[in-house]
Amino acid sequence: DTIGRDLDRAIAAHPDRDALVDVPSGRRWTYAEFGAAVDAVAKGLMARSVGKGDRVGIWAVNCPEWVLVQYATARIGAILVNINPSYRAHELEYVLKQGGVHLLVASTVHRTTDYRALVDQVRGDCPRLREIVHIGEPSWDALIAAGETVTRDRLAEREAELSCDDPVNLQYTSGTTGFPKGATLSHHNILNNGYWVGETVNYTEHDRICVPVPFYHCFGMVMGNLGATSHGACIVIPAPSFDPEATLAAVQDERCTSLYGVPTMFIAELDLPDFSGYDLTSLRTGIMAGSPCPVEVMKRVVAEMHMAEVAICYGMTETSPVSTQTRRDDDLERRTTTVGRVLPHIEVKVTDPVSGVTLPRGRAGELCTRGYSVMLGYWDEPERTAEVIDSGRWMHTGDLALMREDGYVEIVGRIKDMIIRGGENVYPREIEEFLYAHPKIADVQVVGVPSERYGEEVLACVIPRDPEDPLTLAELRDFCENRLAHYKVPSALRLLDAFPMTVSGKVRKVELRGRYGVPE
Ligand code: ATP
Ligand code: MG
Repeated sequence: DTIGRDLDRAIAAHPDRDALVDVPSGRRWTYAEFGAAVDAVAKGLMARSVGKGDRVGIWAVNCPEWVLVQYATARIGAILVNINPSYRAHELEYVLKQGGVHLLVASTVHRTTDYRALVDQVRGDCPRLREIVHIGEPSWDALIAAGETVTRDRLAEREAELSCDDPVNLQYTSGTTGFPKGATLSHHNILNNGYWVGETVNYTEHDRICVPVPFYHCFGMVMGNLGATSHGACIVIPAPSFDPEATLAAVQDERCTSLYGVPTMFIAELDLPDFSGYDLTSLRTGIMAGSPCPVEVMKRVVAEMHMAEVAICYGMTETSPVSTQTRRDDDLERRTTTVGRVLPHIEVKVTDPVSGVTLPRGRAGELCTRGYSVMLGYWDEPERTAEVIDSGRWMHTGDLALMREDGYVEIVGRIKDMIIRGGENVYPREIEEFLYAHPKIADVQVVGVPSERYGEEVLACVIPRDPEDPLTLAELRDFCENRLAHYKVPSALRLLDAFPMTVSGKVRKVELRGRYGVPE
């Protein structure tokens, strides 16, 4: 169905239950109030002549208006273009032009970023961009006021024209492996995915979901917002951008039952000096996704954050996003070594990346997925779409994985990150896990760097536990001696203070390779 009609069902079923709570401002909306607020924004956009298929950009930190714009654009058949709030002028300009954005809704100021100044800098270069609205400024109030001239009937007529296969969202990938790609997603794609993710963690109208992950990413807007509203649950916004203290305070004060995050966010929350001072007993479940979770972290999340039913999800922007998920009664072993099993109505297979032949269970290869969740395509880039979606509608994820006998999927790494040293395939993840055990290593990333002799060499980038007493290459090699195959032993070591990260919390290995891939 369409996102608008699905929201109507939740409003009809639970008009007086909370739909949205913004902790920083103390504002809250019941489903009935939320529906009215969404309609006001939808009418405002119609008054500004946003037509079916027009692109509305949203360049904002987490705030209630983000959510209102998400549902308002879906109601009027516009396409929401999510823009990463950490972008700078040239990245903003790229997305505004690439997505052909007609109207942009943007934050005003957050921390050190002046969104107005950055928008002003690029607007002259974006001929399609007709209109800019800043949240919390008179331009936002003017948008709502303009909508008062649009009748309820006109909105209903527009809604009647929409199909669930219409594009509703243009979401850019994280840019972990290169420049972000715009995945075009339909109502059918993301509404169903939000629904099934929520169904798998048993959401009902009694759940209250704390969403500290950014809305511009599918984790926040699909698994968070759509996961909540498709079950009549409540969305709780703890802060405009990730803040571990505000997150735990929101869980405590709003009695949240579910908490989202990438593993690094959970680590930051667990590491707070007054962690044990927060009452987190209302939590039951949550979702961790994006990158693998260390066992120790998972143990503490279950025991100390009361998230006995926490789920691990695996997915990608291009597949709406989730393909596999752990189940409520899975044990620690499954939650830390696998990314769960396939969700209903989605197929997965593992193929040989070179020959394309389907591999038996237990063998690592490229993970491919098929079903309702596969995107319509990359926006305006048919050649890149054809590189990843084959004629059988299989999405080639670029991830290396294997399926165990029990149907659970283990992610081995990314094809692009695989190192080929002297003809041997080396999976960075395996070496990283081995090296984590070294007492002098706080964190480690392994990448391949060009080598004349072997094609590629294994480089370990290490954040030392004690910068006064850093690890040496000889110590590292001693540690690996007789415990790792010789070709996996790193031949070079770089000591770092921090890794280059994407905003969604992933290490940008490309950048590490770029930085250290050239001989000194
Ligand atoms: P880009 O495609 O621009 O390089 P990206 O692939 O990081 O960036 P996303 O679509 O946000 O952009 O992330 C999807 C990827 O994240 C997956 O392809 C996979 O490599 C990784 N990933 C997602 N969930 C998990 C998980 N639970 N465990 C390990 N890796 C995961
Ligand atoms: Mg990707």
